Amino acid sequence: MVDRKCVGCGQIKNRDELIKVTKENTHGDVIINHSNKIFGRSVYLCYNKSCIEAALKKNRIAKALKTSIPEDLKGRLLNEF
Ligand SMILES: [Zn+2]
Repeated sequence: MVDRKCVGCGQIKNRDELIKVTKENTHGDVIINHSNKIFGRSVYLCYNKSCIEAALKKNRIAKALKTSIPEDLKGRLLNEF
C-alpha cells in the first residue's frame, strides 16, 4: 500500500484514492496523470472539489511542482472531478 498526502486537506490516503498531478520529466508539462508510466514530480489531491479548490487557491500545486499551472489544467481539475 502506497500512501500519499493530499495537498488540499493534508490527509494521507491510498494512492488509488487520489488524483495525481505530475510535471512530467520529458517536456515539463503539467498533466493529470492516470498512468503509472509517466514520471516526474507529482502532487496528489482527493477526488473532492473542496480539496482541489483549496489547493489551487493557495497555489499549493504550483509550489510543490515548482512551476506554474496552466489555466486549462485548472479548469479540468475543477470540472472533471
Ligand atoms: Zn484532500
